[in-house]
Amino acid sequence: MSRFMNEKYSGLKEYTPGEQPKDTVYIKLNTNESPYPPGPKTIAAVTDEVMASRLRLYSDPESAALKKALAERYGVKSSNIFVSNGSDDILNFAFMAFGADGVMFPEISYGFYPVFADLNMIDAVNVPMKEGLAIDPADYAGSGRMIVLANPNAPTGRALSAKEIESIAKADPSHIVLVDEAYVDFGGESCIGLIDENPNVLVVRTYSKSRSLAGARLGFAIGNGDVIADLEKIKYSTNPYNVNSITSAAGIAALAEDDYYMENCRKVMETREWTEIELKNLGFEVIPSSSNFLFAKSEKIGGKALYEKLRERRILVRHFDNPLICEYNRITVGTPEEMTALIDAVRDLIGENV
Ligand code: PMP
Repeated sequence: MSRFMNEKYSGLKEYTPGEQPKDTVYIKLNTNESPYPPGPKTIAAVTDEVMASRLRLYSDPESAALKKALAERYGVKSSNIFVSNGSDDILNFAFMAFGADGVMFPEISYGFYPVFADLNMIDAVNVPMKEGLAIDPADYAGSGRMIVLANPNAPTGRALSAKEIESIAKADPSHIVLVDEAYVDFGGESCIGLIDENPNVLVVRTYSKSRSLAGARLGFAIGNGDVIADLEKIKYSTNPYNVNSITSAAGIAALAEDDYYMENCRKVMETREWTEIELKNLGFEVIPSSSNFLFAKSEKIGGKALYEKLRERRILVRHFDNPLICEYNRITVGTPEEMTALIDAVRDLIGENV
């Protein structure tokens, strides 16, 4: 920290993003990206010359065309939609806007939540996990704080039903229940249908995973019109142009070929089931996953050792040092070929190569 930095940030412990190796020789199963490329319409949209010539102008701060396309896809009004530069941005805005009474989230969840709480000087309660790293909705009911739940959760992959989340929202209508649906397209149940009856439910989505657009940075939120207007206020007080023209065009085109992406999600789920069975056959304990990753551990090899040995073999998975989960690795579901290579490597490493 330089002597110029505001002292209030001296204790801030920033988020550590998953590795993005500069060489491409790794089988990359560490940051939950899609193994499939963007669809042809999406690629055409970002390489279009007319589009490129528009870069001279600022992007539309209202992102009207993108919101219209999202509204049609998700069966809501444009006024129910907020768009931003990735969903991390939205999470930060939501902590800023709705965290005055403190926040509550599971002890094992997305590592950015505690960082956003610290950054915004918000008191955070970490709720211990139940058996098998499960979440009990009753722990979150009536806390008097903003609740933040990744659903499906990361890095466990476990999902709650929309009904369970509704019970949390109804128990404390004066506080926002933020449902981070980054992985919902891989088998979770969306809470978008709750927003009409429960104005405190705010759903946050990303096109980084199911829509192969991690590098484009496109996140959006769906919620009650007044809640969305609050987020707009924060956005217009920081960077009104935070969705650039190229990303906006990519998002609109992706929505026009949604079937392509839904088919990719189906393939990922199929590959996930295959990988889960293979890991279990090798003696791994695997948490039931509704997402595009598996959280698994084995008594035959330590979590860190497996991570390191796979890395030597040019396979990257995600390991967390937190003692509660350090025996696990989070393995993104890639293509069938990539997962076959993973399973072969794991089998070899734990000496079950027959
Ligand atoms: N929420 C969760 C649970 C995530 O795992 C991620 C990805 N790291 C994000 C939000 C952020 O996604 P993005 O900023 O790429 O939209």
